[in-house]
Amino acid sequence: MSSEQVPLVDLRAQYLALKPEIMLAFEEVLESMQLFLGPRQRAFEQEFAAYCGCNYGVGTSSGTTALELALRACDIGPGDEVITVSNTFIATVEAIAAVGAIPVFVDIDPETYVMDWRQLELVLTARTRAILPVHLYGHTVEMKPVLEFAHTHGLRVIEDASQAHGATYEGQRVGSFGDIACFSLYFSKNLGAFGEAGICTTNDLALAEKMWMVRDHGSRVRYLHEVMGNNARMDELQAAVLLVKLPHLTNWNAARQAHAQTYNEHLRGLVEAVPVVRSWSTHVYCYYVVQVDDRERFRAVLADEGIGTNIHYPTPIHLQPACAQYGYKRGMLPVTEAVASRIVSLPMYPELTSHQLQRVIQAVQKYATGTLAPNH
Ligand SMILES: *Cc1c(COP(=O)(O)O)cnc(C)c1O
Repeated sequence: MSSEQVPLVDLRAQYLALKPEIMLAFEEVLESMQLFLGPRQRAFEQEFAAYCGCNYGVGTSSGTTALELALRACDIGPGDEVITVSNTFIATVEAIAAVGAIPVFVDIDPETYVMDWRQLELVLTARTRAILPVHLYGHTVEMKPVLEFAHTHGLRVIEDASQAHGATYEGQRVGSFGDIACFSLYFSKNLGAFGEAGICTTNDLALAEKMWMVRDHGSRVRYLHEVMGNNARMDELQAAVLLVKLPHLTNWNAARQAHAQTYNEHLRGLVEAVPVVRSWSTHVYCYYVVQVDDRERFRAVLADEGIGTNIHYPTPIHLQPACAQYGYKRGMLPVTEAVASRIVSLPMYPELTSHQLQRVIQAVQKYATGTLAPNH
């Protein structure tokens, strides 16, 4: 019996489809030997910002440095509190810590897994300076109440849109709601470079100028350093890949949505929960996350069938050793903690074939049948 493997993500499929174009772009960059702050990086900044409905883009070396730059541009520093979520990738919180600020966590919506804005007022203090909502898995945060709360209390809003390139809230793409939005362009995101990259988008020229300066050693004019900056530039080879890929993003997201619909139709009833999409959001399925009762057995059954799974994320950030200094204990974010023990991500990438989707569905059926077996 031949059993084709179905990996969690298949980056090679996308590379092969675009190989001639990407190789040509690489060759042009290497022939010019302009390896950073060149025309491709500038073009990508403009094209991606326009894609998000924003005026300015600031290319960066990663999503993590994008978040750091955004916080710095908003003058968030030591002693300041930034409200965010614990159900995210560590980088969201690392960036807050990197500028010396304190992460303050709120719980999440149990169905969409993103920030529950109703909890913002519970953690507001005199030191709160910003809100950092994360559009997780590809579903957007309900932005209107977040923005209203921020406006009422004079807070900055920085979106972490690293898992939501192209996702919309009330018909508008993420990236233009807050003061600044940050995107990872890590190779496995909905839009990914061939290595490390990220970008900040904003409509505020002063913030963009500050970020352009800080990411390049605090310098606007070579060897004149106005502030202590960083080396956080996007390099030209990554920009070349991203320029080739960006025109495909909309179709890739549509393919992810079609795959998610197929999964939803067949998996509903076999697992505890399939992804929920609120009426005001689209979902771009950076990850396709379901909930199961017996996760260990679920993953074992699927692994046996050659199907890759992962957990995004197994330990909430507030319970990580790295966060011990902030004094959070188990029980403080009950929804986040409950969800973390039940979620599991299934294979999701635009190039998934219908045969592969069927293989995943059949494997989940096998798990569900087994769940019932002991009672029969
Ligand atoms: C990937 C990711 C980041 C970090 O991006 P890098 O490019 O890996 O530094 C930050 N936040 C979220 C939500 C992410 O998924």
